[in-house]
Amino acid sequence: MILLIGEGVFSSVPLHAEEVMAVAARVAGDESKTRFVADLTRPVSYSVYVLPNPYRVMIDLPGVGFDLTPGSGGSGLGLVSAYRFGPLDKDRSRIVIDVKGPVLIAKSFLVKPEDGQPARLVVDLVKTDEKTFRMAHEADMAARPQAAAEPEADDAVKAATAAPLPVPKPGTEPAPTSAERPMPAKRPDGKRVIVIDPGHGGIDPGAVGVGRTKEKDVVLTFSRMLRDRLARNKNYEVVLTRDSDTFLSLKQRVGIARQNQADLFIAVHADTVRGASVRGATLYTVSEKASDAEAEALAQKENRSDIIGGIDLATENEEVTDILIELAQRETKNHSIAFAKKAAGQLQLVTQMTGKPTRSAGFVVLKAPDVPSVLLELGYLSNKADEALLVSSKWQAQVTEAMNKAIAAYFATEIAARQ
Ligand SMILES: [Zn+2]
Repeated sequence: MILLIGEGVFSSVPLHAEEVMAVAARVAGDESKTRFVADLTRPVSYSVYVLPNPYRVMIDLPGVGFDLTPGSGGSGLGLVSAYRFGPLDKDRSRIVIDVKGPVLIAKSFLVKPEDGQPARLVVDLVKTDEKTFRMAHEADMAARPQAAAEPEADDAVKAATAAPLPVPKPGTEPAPTSAERPMPAKRPDGKRVIVIDPGHGGIDPGAVGVGRTKEKDVVLTFSRMLRDRLARNKNYEVVLTRDSDTFLSLKQRVGIARQNQADLFIAVHADTVRGASVRGATLYTVSEKASDAEAEALAQKENRSDIIGGIDLATENEEVTDILIELAQRETKNHSIAFAKKAAGQLQLVTQMTGKPTRSAGFVVLKAPDVPSVLLELGYLSNKADEALLVSSKWQAQVTEAMNKAIAAYFATEIAARQ
C-alpha cells in the first residue's frame, strides 16, 4: 500500500521554516495485528511500503529530524521485532520497521495535531502469508517506479555504475607479476584519484563502542583527516563518498569510486567483535572465499548495511558473470592485495595490528571490478583500548601518516619499475 499525503490535506496548518521532528514512537498490539505510531511536530507527506529479504516495512519521509529516547526501536512488540530511523540525506529521512514475518499494511494515516497533542503518523500491520506479501510488494514497486532505481536517486551515480568496463582483451590474462605495479593512471593529467569511503552513516550507525562511540562518527573524522593529508600532494585528487552524517548504499559507494575513475578505493571501518580483548587494525580485500571465519563474519555484518538502510536487495548487487569482467576483476584484485600489504607494513610501525593483518572476504563495497579496493578496519570499538585510540587525534594523525606513506609507495612502484 502506498499513501502520499501532502501538506495540502492540512491546509489550515501554517508552514513552518523549522525542521519537522519526530519526538516519540511506540508499538502496540499482538502477533496478529500491530500498530506503529510516530509523533511528529507537524504533518508531513510520507510513503509506506513493504520490502522482503528480510521482511521490513519502510516509511519514507521528507527531511524529518529525530528526537527519540535513546534506545528507541531496539526491541519491538507483536509483529514488530525492532525499528530504526534516521536521515538518508539532507532532504529525506526513513523509518525502517523490522517485522517477524510477512505482513500487510492494513492502513496508514496522519492525525492532525490538536489540543496540544502532536501530529501522529499511524501504520497498522496485520499478519499475512508469504504469497499475499509478495503480491503486495510487487504492487508497491509497480506503484512507485522510482523505487526500482533506488538508491540511485543521483543520475550521475547511476550513469557511473552503468559505465562500460575497461577490460583486457580475451587471451591477455594479466600476468601474476602485474600486482607489483599499480594500474596506470586513469586520468589524462596523470593525477591519481583516491576515493575514501567512511563506512555507515545516517540511519546506519555501524558499531557502537563500549564507551558509546559510534563507528559512523569516528570513521568520518578519520576519513576527513586522511583526505586533508593526501590533498597536500598535488598529484592526488581525493574524494570522500560522504562528508556528512548521511546514508549511502553499498552500490552508491562503489558507484562514486567508478564515477570518479578512482585509482584506489579505501573503505574505513571500526567494528565490534565478540571478545572484548580482541584489538588491532586489519586490511581486508575482496575474495569469493573468506580467508578465515572472522573475516567472513565481518563481511556479512558489513553487507547488512543495505538492509539496515532499507535498500531493496532485489535490485542491488546482481552477480557479474561476464568472463571479461572476471579477468579485469582478477587484475584489480592483485593490485588490491599489493596495496593492502603495503598499508599493513606501514601501519604496523605505528599501531597494533590483529594477528592476521591482511585478510579477505566477500565485501560488497570492495567489488568495483576496475578499482583496486581495500577495507581498512582501524580497530575494534568493542575493545576499550582501541576505542580510546580511535578517538585520539594524535593516534589518528599517526595512522593517517602511515596510510599516506603506503599510498605514496603503492603509486611510486610503477615509476620505480620504469627507471
Ligand atoms: Zn563497519
